[in-house]
Amino acid sequence: MASSLGARASLCVPAAGDASSRKSVGSKAHNLRFHDQRLVSLSLLGRQTTKPGSRPQQKVLCLSVQQASQSKVAVNPLELEDAKEPPINLYKPKGPYTATIVSVERIVGPKAPGETCHIVIDHGGNVPYWEGQSYGVIPPGENPKKPGMPNNVRLYSIASTRYGDSFDGRTASLCVRRAVYYDPETGKEDPSKKGVCSNFLCDSKPGDKIQLAGPSGKVMLLPEEDPKATHIMIATGTGVAPYRGYLRRMFMEAVPTFKFSGLAWLFLGVANSDSLLYDDEFSSYLRDYPDHFRYDRALSREQKNRNGGRCTSRTRSKSAHIYFCGLKGMMPGIQDTLKRVAEERGEAWDAKLLQLRKNKQWHVEVY
Ligand code: FAD
Repeated sequence: MASSLGARASLCVPAAGDASSRKSVGSKAHNLRFHDQRLVSLSLLGRQTTKPGSRPQQKVLCLSVQQASQSKVAVNPLELEDAKEPPINLYKPKGPYTATIVSVERIVGPKAPGETCHIVIDHGGNVPYWEGQSYGVIPPGENPKKPGMPNNVRLYSIASTRYGDSFDGRTASLCVRRAVYYDPETGKEDPSKKGVCSNFLCDSKPGDKIQLAGPSGKVMLLPEEDPKATHIMIATGTGVAPYRGYLRRMFMEAVPTFKFSGLAWLFLGVANSDSLLYDDEFSSYLRDYPDHFRYDRALSREQKNRNGGRCTSRTRSKSAHIYFCGLKGMMPGIQDTLKRVAEERGEAWDAKLLQLRKNKQWHVEVY
């Protein structure tokens, strides 16, 4: 990996489905239309670059980059760029903001183990956030462990940029996996033990009200001082949420204060092809920004890497950032691999890790 190690490394990302295979539902997939607006603007410009997956010639690439930046989506209000510090805990669990559900879409195919939904929430511009932050959601009902008290808050990484999926700063999107419980003895689903908040969110309907706290979290904020930096993003399942926000900011939105020209590299681990999240969106960046985006998919139950190889990086950059988001279980294997690779090169991993942490290049949010 990375670059900041000045080393070659292989990353094998465990898939979300492995740890949560007991959790499963089976409803039909919906068609996704996450970026209609962008597709329209591309076709208006008559933009046609190279075949998906093929690398353009240098001459074509220049044209492609220029046109790509022209085709980015306008966002507003640009005042959302003004603050020097991220908003933190504007609303507390005891005084939450009442937001409204705009849409809930199942975003995995029928063969995915479990259900994951993309949920758009209208906060009317009242609960602003930065990419990489989380919202707290207080599900309705009584806390089962504290009768008479409201349910505890649950955190969800925000999967949109600060402008939201409608590019107007009024919505936030979440990527939520429905937590269900299978009795280990009978193997049957036990609805009395299903996850309270994830089921509330995945079952909610447009117009429903939702209690929000936050935003919270600084560790996964996208460092933007160096637009040429390398960002290596590793996710299992819904851990991809913050990266969707980063990538939309880098490649989809016309943000005057952030013109990304570095390298973003996403490793996504899921159970199978049907479990891939936001794959169309990420594939379009691969097609449009081949020099600035790489995307490796690890499908644990299909035992292959979608790009046909190991997740291997040979790039070097002193300012690379590395991010981990998703299941806690992903960390030990990854850390072991990094340690082994560093040692193969005669480098002390513990010292490297300390340095990465000190330089704020090491970003971890696992749950
Ligand atoms: P809970 O009701 O809290 O139950 C937890 C688990 O226990 C469930 O699997 C449930 O089936 C099981 N259970 C319930 N009762 C019993 C019982 N009696 N015996 C045994 N098991 C039982 N999640 C996402 O989907 N997307 C995200 O982007 C995301 N981001 C996060 C970011 C952060 C920083 C953190 C800390 C967590 C994040 N999570 C995310 C996880 C999320 O906060 C919740 O923990 C998750 O949705 C489960 O909450 P729940 O209310 O549905 O389940």
